[in-house]
Amino acid sequence: MSENYQVIVIGSGPAGYVAAIRCAQLGMKTACVEKWVDDKGAIKLGGTCLNVGCIPSKALLDSSHKYVEAKHDFDIHGISVGSIEMDVAKMLARKDKIVTQLTGGIGGLFKANGVDSIIGTGKVLANKQVEVTNAAGEQVIYQAENIIIAAGSVPVEIPPAPLIDDVVVDSTGALEFSEVPKRLGVIGAGVIGLELGSVWARLGAEVTVLEALDDFLPAADMAIAKETKKVLKKQGLDIRLGTRVTATEVVGKGKARTVNVEYSDAEGTKKESFDKLIVCVGRRPLSENLLAADCGVNLDERGFVFVNEQCQTDARDIYAVGDIVRGPMLAHKGSEEGVMVAERIAGKKTQINYDNIPGVIYTSPEIAWVGKNEQELKASGQDYNVGIFPFAASGRALAANETTGMVKIIADATTDRVLGCHIIGPSAADLVQQVVIAIEFGASSEDLALTVFSHPTLSEAVHEAALAVAGHAIHIPNRPARKKKK
Ligand code: FAD
Ligand code: AMP
Repeated sequence: MSENYQVIVIGSGPAGYVAAIRCAQLGMKTACVEKWVDDKGAIKLGGTCLNVGCIPSKALLDSSHKYVEAKHDFDIHGISVGSIEMDVAKMLARKDKIVTQLTGGIGGLFKANGVDSIIGTGKVLANKQVEVTNAAGEQVIYQAENIIIAAGSVPVEIPPAPLIDDVVVDSTGALEFSEVPKRLGVIGAGVIGLELGSVWARLGAEVTVLEALDDFLPAADMAIAKETKKVLKKQGLDIRLGTRVTATEVVGKGKARTVNVEYSDAEGTKKESFDKLIVCVGRRPLSENLLAADCGVNLDERGFVFVNEQCQTDARDIYAVGDIVRGPMLAHKGSEEGVMVAERIAGKKTQINYDNIPGVIYTSPEIAWVGKNEQELKASGQDYNVGIFPFAASGRALAANETTGMVKIIADATTDRVLGCHIIGPSAADLVQQVVIAIEFGASSEDLALTVFSHPTLSEAVHEAALAVAGHAIHIPNRPARKKKK
């Protein structure tokens, strides 16, 4: 038996490291167990998000966006550039540098807050003990007063498309292509598939997205999903819905290897060949070998650690947060759960409003939403009003030559309380945050409409959409406010 801790966190992703820091801030003796190490055996903090998720994908999205701007968009501003060269190795090196800086930063924050890092694979035993196994197979057992499980998730693999070297890859492999593939296949038109497909399409790949479902982005508001599909198609992404991949075969040798993909759609079975294939069919909780049978923590039928609204497991003083529990697999959702749990251990009554978690797709333009969408409200029979403002009518969007898309705000027809916001357009990820705050404070669309917004800003589109809910937007002709009848 080794040291005792008030809190041991298993996993240092955005759920785990935030939980650990908050616990330490609240005066608890805290350790964070992490199994991820670099090739020298040094701990790699930050989890999926910092190492192979949010951050590296956004680094490549930003680099590839700048390439497209330089190649196609500068001209309209009257800026001529000579020939544009792309250096993929430099782009990847920049991404890796950002990752190293941020993961190292978590180490610094741990030190500053007094969180101990423990390298190794953690397992929850009975009586709130945590067994940690290092790379050499040596085991140390720690005693905790509280345990926070934040072991995260990994990409789903599907039998028809096993991963093979750098030819058939998951999202992690797709951040590492050393050159731009000529023909790139992507299985799955979810958030990650669209973002990674966009990166390589912008850099010149012919991208085909094969999606089994007939609906495109079913979780998004239908109007936004429709516009997104149109925009991405224009950018060269060939998105094929109702297309299920049934088999793949890697053929050829060395650098000349390609992958033959067999898929079925409404017309029958077809084949297509790609230079690289990205499998982006979702993520699953990493819950195997994590829990001793007698530790008291249970999994649900899909392998997620079973928790209540406050992230308590079935075992007293053991909590679970982030991708390993129900709810959207989003870094910010896990981080907020980490804070909530730390504060609840410290005796506070912190809660999360699970109805107010924004989602973003970092395509160009960005797609972002929060709250209820129109099809959900229709299905529930709730009366609502909608205000829409297109970026084409925004002076600032026009000045920036970014006029694609719209802001859509939905408010309760009776109380006017804001129920949802759905955006496709420039800086959608940041704009939606204004409505997240409005919803958190229980604001009405009139509250937003009566708020002063700086001019000229993209935010004015949020203001105008709020005005449009009541039918008095200034910079577009208004539709009369509609009261939906059940
Ligand atoms: P993770 O980040 O998965 O961290 C879990 C950690 O636990 C890992 O470091 C793992 O090594 C460690 N671990 C697991 N088991 C053990 C064990 N037994 N012992 C010790 N350590 C263990 N989300 C967003 O919100 N915005 C985005 O833009 C976004 N982009 C993404 C892009 C990509 C390509 C991917 C793959 C994901 C993206 N996500 C994004 C999702 C986001 O990365 C996850 O929701 C988030 O990382 C989950 O955080 P977590 O802390 O629960 O788990
Ligand atoms: P997400 O879970 O949002 O990352 O999206 C993953 C997508 O992959 C889902 O929309 C699935 O329908 C899709 N998918 C899963 N298996 C296959 C398959 N064999 N062929 C094509 N699409 C698939």
